[in-house]
Amino acid sequence: MGCKEIQATVRQIFSNYIEKKGLRKTPERFAILDEVYARTGHFDVETLYIQMKNASYQVSRATLYNTMDLLIDCGLIVKHQFGKNIAQFEKTYRCRQHDHIICTSCGKVEEYCDPRVHEIENTVAQVLDYTITKHSLYFYGICSDCRKKNKT
Ligand SMILES: [Zn+2]
Ligand SMILES: [Zn+2]
Repeated sequence: MGCKEIQATVRQIFSNYIEKKGLRKTPERFAILDEVYARTGHFDVETLYIQMKNASYQVSRATLYNTMDLLIDCGLIVKHQFGKNIAQFEKTYRCRQHDHIICTSCGKVEEYCDPRVHEIENTVAQVLDYTITKHSLYFYGICSDCRKKNKT
């Protein structure tokens, strides 16, 4: 699936969601969705806001925050609270499933992918008879760079 197809698909998902919620399909909301899906990795709303402003988008902070909430609610983005840092976001559609480990000393965030997490999810869903829609798993610790620095 290419970039254009992903953009079309997530627009369709968002469009259906907005319709279901009885909200207005404003061009601003779709511009924000496009911006979010043009990104890779983690980002915060303030950075996104400044970059959209610099690219001459007519988007207010209120609209941006409100749209981010809608995108979380319909599952197109996920919000992370990595330690004490400000909230970070990332897109979810067609993105490799991964979890995060955070260094509490330097704030570095790393991603890892372990298929066993998915197996646990399936087992829990089966045993407790749930349809699991999402999970949240964060490991915190001290990275090797910070450990090295502390020794010298
Ligand atoms: Zn560190
Ligand atoms: Zn991530």
